[in-house]
Amino acid sequence: MATLGNPISTIAVLEKYGFKFQKKFGQNFLIDEDVLNGIMDAAEITKDDFVLEIGPGIGSMTQFLCERAGEVMAVEIDSNLIPILEDTLSAYDNVTVVNEDVLKLDLETVAKEKNQGRPIKVVANLPYYITTPILMQLFESNLPIESITVMVQKEVAERMQAGPGSKDYGALSLAVQYYSEPEIVVMAPPHCFIPQPKVASAVIRMKFHEEPPVDTDDPKFMFRVIRASFNQRRKTLANGLKNGSGIPISKEAIQEAIEEAGYPLTVRGETLTLQEFADLSKILKQKIS
Ligand code: SAM
Repeated sequence: MATLGNPISTIAVLEKYGFKFQKKFGQNFLIDEDVLNGIMDAAEITKDDFVLEIGPGIGSMTQFLCERAGEVMAVEIDSNLIPILEDTLSAYDNVTVVNEDVLKLDLETVAKEKNQGRPIKVVANLPYYITTPILMQLFESNLPIESITVMVQKEVAERMQAGPGSKDYGALSLAVQYYSEPEIVVMAPPHCFIPQPKVASAVIRMKFHEEPPVDTDDPKFMFRVIRASFNQRRKTLANGLKNGSGIPISKEAIQEAIEEAGYPLTVRGETLTLQEFADLSKILKQKIS
């Protein structure tokens, strides 16, 4: 039975090992069982699942995962947590702890070896200082992923599921929605963690699409266009593409492409849907000199 996920046993473990929180690793440990059970339910974890957990901390969420999943692999950067995890996870034989920076780990090889290349689920209370790099690495890898269910800052979760025209809509929304269907599933105010973060948090579940939702033959190019379009939010799409894209294309050709796609030259990137970015990218690519 999971013993962690509440303030009393968490503080007891921290004191037993004299653990010192490292701010640089974004350490805020979950101490709320309802939130932990909510994450397990939202991720629909069953004994058929192989779960990758990023940043197990002292193992609070890991215990809940071990109870429900077939196999768990937990990747933790802080070596001070490894002896603690050996202790808190000693009752489970379905978990492997890896002491490594997740951004440096070859996750594809790990998934092949450990799960015979079958789709995995990613579940984590992410370190907030590297939320976007971790998600982009997961998206852009060839890792077979069924879903990602992660705790992030509430405002980041809102950006992920925002649509065109909203102030939260941007390159992150489009990347998340290209790969998956995002949904905010659990809210977690600061008192659910120790130490308490300064901001509210939310859990977002991203179920991966079987096929990309839009037709593009060059997603990398499309994302260069998207990033450039949002680089200078207050500027027009034409100016964003001209100044920030690094795409070798003249101002005149950019204007032509925008008009051919059916927009006025004053159009802003934040009004375009993913499909519209895919279509515009195709036209722009043909104009590269
Ligand atoms: N899962 C635990 C929980 O919910 O109580 C801890 C979550 S805490 C927000 C983030 C965890 O990620 C910390 O344990 C931190 O040391 C770890 N971490 C930070 N950067 C990491 C990285 N690059 N690779 C792997 N783990 C990392």
